[in-house]
Amino acid sequence: MKVINPATGAVIAEVDADDAAAVRNKYAVARAAQPRWAAVPIRKRLEAIAKFRENIVARHEALARTLTSEVGKPIRQSRNELNGLLGRIDFFLAEAVGALREEKIYADPTQKLDERITHEPLGVIANISAWNYPYFVGSNVFVPALVSGNAVLYKPSEFATLTGLHIADMLHEAGVPRDVFVPVIGDGATGAALTRQPVDGIFFTGSYATGAKIAAAAARRMVKVQLELGGKDPIYVCDDVDVQAAAAAVADGAFYNTGQSCCSVERIYVHESIHDAFVAAFVAEVKSYKIGDPMDESTYIGAITRRPQLDVLKQQVADAKKKGAKLLTGGGVIRGKGNWFEPTVFTGVDHSMAMMRDESFGPIIGIQSVADDDAAVDLMNDTEYGLTAGVYTNDDKRARRILKRIHSGSVYWNCCDRVSPRLPWSGVGHSGIGLTLSTYGIQTFTRPKAWHLRSA
Ligand code: NDP
Repeated sequence: MKVINPATGAVIAEVDADDAAAVRNKYAVARAAQPRWAAVPIRKRLEAIAKFRENIVARHEALARTLTSEVGKPIRQSRNELNGLLGRIDFFLAEAVGALREEKIYADPTQKLDERITHEPLGVIANISAWNYPYFVGSNVFVPALVSGNAVLYKPSEFATLTGLHIADMLHEAGVPRDVFVPVIGDGATGAALTRQPVDGIFFTGSYATGAKIAAAAARRMVKVQLELGGKDPIYVCDDVDVQAAAAAVADGAFYNTGQSCCSVERIYVHESIHDAFVAAFVAEVKSYKIGDPMDESTYIGAITRRPQLDVLKQQVADAKKKGAKLLTGGGVIRGKGNWFEPTVFTGVDHSMAMMRDESFGPIIGIQSVADDDAAVDLMNDTEYGLTAGVYTNDDKRARRILKRIHSGSVYWNCCDRVSPRLPWSGVGHSGIGLTLSTYGIQTFTRPKAWHLRSA
């Protein structure tokens, strides 16, 4: 399998992909190894994860450069991802023992009755991962899964294969046995072969379309399936904000990682009384972004990782234009080597347009004027997705009133495009089922076992 630099189109590596037989063998290896790993004391498993963290710190710059070269992410943003990863690992290191401790639920000495819950590993799990934040979306699964005693068959996206192999090397060097964390390398067909193995859980991060296929593949097997999928994340900017500051923050939420985040701002609603001022500030901010070589320290907009996404972006732009939206900046593919799209801003958009309904997953955004808070809430909820949503206002009560009515896994007040290891990460509707992160996101890799104990 060829690994291509999306910024240049150059082949930067070739790797051996796993065919269906190799995937079956890897499953068998992990199945045999899992009970031994579950029997290792949790403190020892945590020591291995702490060593993995040390390995990341030691190789930080080289890892950032590999990531940039295979996904086209600006180098500063690759470093940010690795720094964020360290914080997530610290959270798991601090919280795992407490989250996985045996719970004494009830005791009645008169009846000699004792009721307890233990958190048992699921067994062997498949971790099928996306390319856009491979360290984040991978570690949200494999770190707590390993800590809680599971074996992990880890399939990185074909667009983040080198990063996936680095992760495997660093875990193995840290003391996680090779048969307990097993990388499975390949494209979607390899992923599909993995979902056909009799694993005890499938933890998937990716698009709604693939998530639906995986749910269907697993439906008859009655195993845990967790799907972290896409979003069409809205922001509403109220009339009482500092317009310049809000425009800069929301633009960053829309264009960071070149718009290729599950929680990128994908729709903007602005109160009509500040609409024109907000749009002017927003466009000025976007025009200041530097596009170019992702290895350059000053680059903010990088490459589009998957080439087919250029067609999705082109179609959304053409559809918006045809339906009367006003293009303020950008609007097209940047010709030359690699995959590039101009940062693009439209106003005069509405929900008849694909740009306001379907995930764009790129550097394009529509801004829609709204008359009041009720209209904004109706539009924010008018989506099949429900990953994140946010409001910018100086009024705490107004923010809470609005956010209470929003159907999404996460809500933001005066912030956006943000993930915290301390809070659950989940979606509703087409954004998925289940959750990662927080202490719930540790327990999710276990099965609560009920103990009914009556002493003689
Ligand atoms: P895809 O759905 O294309 O792929 C995700 C993973 O599934 C990849 O490893 C892919 O392999 C694999 N895959 C593809 N087809 C199959 C199949 N039939 N069976 C099993 N596995 C398969 O998503 P992307 O990687 O393009 O990621 C972008 C999407 O992920 C966006 O929608 C984004 O919003 C979402 N996402 C959601 C997050 C969340 O936390 N909710 C976080 C990050 C991203 P390969 O790539 O090799 O084809």
